[in-house]
Amino acid sequence: MVGGGAAGILAAISSAETGQQTLLLEGNQQLGRKVLIAGNGRCNLTNRDADDPEHYHGTQPHFVRQVLRAFPLQETLTFFRDLGLEVKEEKRGRLFPTSDQAQAVVDLLEDRLGQLGVGVVKGAKICRAVRAETGFVVDSRDGRSWTGRRLVLASGGVSVPKLGADGSGLELAKGFGHRATQLLPGLVPLLSPDEYIRPAQGVKVWAEVRVALGKGRQAIDTDDLLFTPYGVSGFTILNLSARIVPFLERGPLDLAINLFPGQSPEQVSEILKKRWERHPQRGLAFSFTGLLHGKLVGPLLVKLGAAPDQPVGRVPKAQRWELARLLTSWAVQVTQPRDFDHAEVTIGGIHTSEVDPVTLESYLVPGLYLAGELLDVHGDLGGFNLQWAWASGAVAGRGG
Ligand SMILES: Cc1cc2nc3c(=O)[nH]c(=O)nc-3n(C[C@H](O)[C@H](O)[C@H](O)COP(=O)(O)OP(=O)(O)OC[C@H]3O[C@@H](n4cnc5c(N)ncnc54)[C@H](O)[C@@H]3O)c2cc1C
Repeated sequence: MVGGGAAGILAAISSAETGQQTLLLEGNQQLGRKVLIAGNGRCNLTNRDADDPEHYHGTQPHFVRQVLRAFPLQETLTFFRDLGLEVKEEKRGRLFPTSDQAQAVVDLLEDRLGQLGVGVVKGAKICRAVRAETGFVVDSRDGRSWTGRRLVLASGGVSVPKLGADGSGLELAKGFGHRATQLLPGLVPLLSPDEYIRPAQGVKVWAEVRVALGKGRQAIDTDDLLFTPYGVSGFTILNLSARIVPFLERGPLDLAINLFPGQSPEQVSEILKKRWERHPQRGLAFSFTGLLHGKLVGPLLVKLGAAPDQPVGRVPKAQRWELARLLTSWAVQVTQPRDFDHAEVTIGGIHTSEVDPVTLESYLVPGLYLAGELLDVHGDLGGFNLQWAWASGAVAGRGG
């Protein structure tokens, strides 16, 4: 196995469990560095909805189906429970260790590797992998060499490269004739050129965000939305980015933000009307006090082009309606994602058309398997990326 992240560790465990002599080669001095920082150090290891293929994306969206069926949520939970890991559920079906410690996940996986007698070599950055008569030969940068009958590449994508997955594994796959799709940052904050929203930086609100993607398609999510010095972030943006970043390649998109999720412009107009009737002498900006975060009011009135001091009793009905529409469908432009250093996953990877969706064996090189983020598969926010890594690792490790 090349790569001691979530996918590589699961591949090594499942390989050893089927009785194969197994070696795990990891470039870092530590296994599972991304698992350790996942979920802010608490590790959102999977999701109640993990078996639903709709949460996974790539050029061939159906590619994930058989792998998800081969190592479904129940098997994942049983696997971790057998290791000693108890899990708890949080919002949106996200599952975490009850100890709230990602370290526990890595410690228990390492314990299992030890039990199974898997040879673990840390600090082995692989720079060359070739087919030989009896199998494969891999060489590390520091001049060491290993041979094996099968080779699993689970070397990750290119997000947060300082954690180990720096694209060198993609080069190994390319050396075998595999091709990679375009790589883009995913689960990532988005940049906005709309300067007038900057005063709202630091504000986190509960909002529904819609994005029209053309041809009648749209992406929609309701959760925390965070205004930042460069644009927007928060759970809802990171989650939407999994679907909208590829579309940003074609040009800017407008987010339609509803600050009153589930409510229509008519309902919000009514709310304003009642508040304004109660305090008609209040200025427009002050009239939002107690309803909206104060730092949002300035940017909203700039967008509306309304004077902040005008008494609400004198605001015409048409302007109240415009304001209600703005509050339920605030157009904020986004132009591009932040870079890979700020992205939780890589959108894109090795073309899945070159890999058997049942076994994850390469169609180009018999005995070569590919797993995890290295492949052109990425999931939504909420534990789906680790589920893909565990499941694809387990399948690749079994070896058909
Ligand atoms: C900040 C952050 C938070 C995240 N939080 C979550 C979360 O809570 N839930 C979730 O589901 N997902 C989360 N993710 C995404 C998830 O961690 C990854 O999708 C998943 O870990 C990918 O697993 P992998 O094994 O395929 O790749 P990686 O974890 O990247 O592992 C690849 C391994 O291969 C090694 N390697 C690379 N090249 C070589 C080489 N040439 N030789 C030897 N070794 C090599 C690397 O050092 C690395 O250890 C998060 C990601 C980040 C960056």
